[in-house]
Amino acid sequence: MVRDIAEQLKARFSEMDVEVPLEDIEKKLDELINKFRVPVEEAKRSVVSQYSKDRKSADLLKVKDIQSDGQWISLKTKVVQLWPSESESIAQSGLIGDETGTIRFVSWVKSDLPPVEEGKCYMLKNVVTDEWQGRYNVKLTRSTEIVPIEDDIEVSSVVEEFLGAIVDIQSGSGLIKRCEFCKRALAKGSCGEHGKVEGMYDLRIKGVIDDGKMVQDILLNREIVESLIGITLDEAKKMAAEALDQSLVLDAFRERLIGRYFSIKGPRVGRYILVEDVKSSPKISDQDVTELIKEAEAL
Ligand SMILES: [Zn+2]
Repeated sequence: MVRDIAEQLKARFSEMDVEVPLEDIEKKLDELINKFRVPVEEAKRSVVSQYSKDRKSADLLKVKDIQSDGQWISLKTKVVQLWPSESESIAQSGLIGDETGTIRFVSWVKSDLPPVEEGKCYMLKNVVTDEWQGRYNVKLTRSTEIVPIEDDIEVSSVVEEFLGAIVDIQSGSGLIKRCEFCKRALAKGSCGEHGKVEGMYDLRIKGVIDDGKMVQDILLNREIVESLIGITLDEAKKMAAEALDQSLVLDAFRERLIGRYFSIKGPRVGRYILVEDVKSSPKISDQDVTELIKEAEAL
């Protein structure tokens, strides 16, 4: 039994980047459990805390310096944003940042860490870097230590890039009307601040893009919408007038965009990326993949 526990602990140490000979762990456990009659759980804790001290402390890096995968590091960061959990195995995920940029983080349920709060700053000791489609994120693991800090960190807003499929175009997109005084989008012809107003037309897209691992809210202004869809504001107004239906424009946008791949770029504002640059991105289909494999096999 001691052997089994020792093996479990050894695996756990490896995960923490600490190599301890199995015999050493076994000997310690045997002594604690069989000689000193220490309860098993307590013996495990004791051995873990003893060897955890041997761990090399991970280098303190700035977000912009994260450039390799699988590196154990420490970060002094502010929690910019927490996202709703997308999976039962994820305890928390969101965006953290420092003076040099922002990065996504994820904390697993199995890591059993205390939760972080939006807007608060922390020293995150021993997080591991991970890469997905050329962008880095950090994972908080069982060996991560979260230390709240008092200083406020000014997070630099950097341009973010995202490559994925547009999976939703939300209501409030398409041909919309804004208040002529405060530019706010009208709801049923009314401005929250100025009441019933005549309003002025605008084009906008509030959408959701999905890279297969995460979803991201995006916001496209008139200029970007016009160039992406190839319909100008005047043309959209004409379409709506002829059909006597404003939602026609939204339907046209959905048809053009949903399910298609784009690479987008822009600064993050709140939960949105404000898209300043968007390119259609060809996605290799399953059929193409099958053909590529066939070609490769024929070589
Ligand atoms: Zn207004």
